[in-house]
Amino acid sequence: MELDFENRMMSPDTLPDDEAELSLRPKTMAEYIGQQKVKDNLSVFIEAARGRGDSLDHVLLYGPPGLGKTTLAGIIANAMDVNLRVTSGPAIEKPGDLAALLTNLGEGDVLFIDEIHRLSRSVEEVLYPAMEDFALDIIIGKGPSARSIRLDLPKFTLVGATTRAGQITAPLRDRFGVVLRLELYSPQELGTIITRSAKILEIPCQPKGATELAARSRGTPRIANRLLKRVRDFAQVLGDGEITQEIANTSLDRLEIDKLGLDSIDRRALHTIIRNYAGGPVGLETLAAAVGEEAVTLEDMCEPYLMQIGFLSKTPRGRVVTALAYQHLGLAPPEDTPQAPPEQLSL
Ligand code: ADP
Repeated sequence: MELDFENRMMSPDTLPDDEAELSLRPKTMAEYIGQQKVKDNLSVFIEAARGRGDSLDHVLLYGPPGLGKTTLAGIIANAMDVNLRVTSGPAIEKPGDLAALLTNLGEGDVLFIDEIHRLSRSVEEVLYPAMEDFALDIIIGKGPSARSIRLDLPKFTLVGATTRAGQITAPLRDRFGVVLRLELYSPQELGTIITRSAKILEIPCQPKGATELAARSRGTPRIANRLLKRVRDFAQVLGDGEITQEIANTSLDRLEIDKLGLDSIDRRALHTIIRNYAGGPVGLETLAAAVGEEAVTLEDMCEPYLMQIGFLSKTPRGRVVTALAYQHLGLAPPEDTPQAPPEQLSL
């Protein structure tokens, strides 16, 4: 993946600087902004489990990176009054690594596995009986004298996160009692998140400054918080420290983040579809090769936002650029260019 300055700024993945601000992570459902449907459903399941004195059923969260999946796992653990253990698919290399994690859990604890679709087959097989029967099957010995013994585990809650539910195997997906999809945030919700973060970090920020940042944050709280911190620097040096609309505008323009938060990969992808494929349709793999990016980068990082703002439409024959995207890039759309499908115009 190309890693110029601008792309790092707009990446929804965690960068070292982001995690320095753990204080920004909401700790309760009330502090967690947006995702109303997810919050409403989870609150019911949590209350019911607590009422029964039981652990919460396993939860699968899916949606693009930076939308608050890890944060939600923490909120679940808090609400259930249990400990949270955080790990990720690639970090669990061998079945033994998972066994060590599981045997160290306390009753009711939450185990959060990020990028759960990247677990290896052999590790996944250990996870099945652990999720279903709270048991660990261990093989002792080799050859004809080998036998399997079953170890009981505490009743725990697995919270798995993935960018797309379709990426995980069916047997694993079937073992989650609760499957929830996180959506990109609206500019209004992002404005509230930015105002909240500014207060915590003691950054003076005018409502119009927050609105300007929100519009360019690609529906992603992680990017919103990152832009807030960068623009704070500009406000300190160029102004009196307060983030006004003008300061936000100037600094984001200087960071080459356009009015809608598009970065160079988005622009390249749109220009490629327009120039090389007459606006589409073009298949994902073909497009990725032409743009010089990995297909997953386009699918996880660019497409959800381009679709949310109605710039890109997915058809059975491939990706199609809409008239709105042409207009944004200052180009005239050909006659037969589709307008954005109405359901995508959620801004
Ligand atoms: P993910 O696990 O989906 O990649 P995180 O849970 O790490 O995302 O969230 C990224 C950052 O965005 C967090 O540090 C948190 O400060 C902020 N954030 C995410 N969701 C919300 C929300 N609903 N309200 C306020 N802040 C949020």
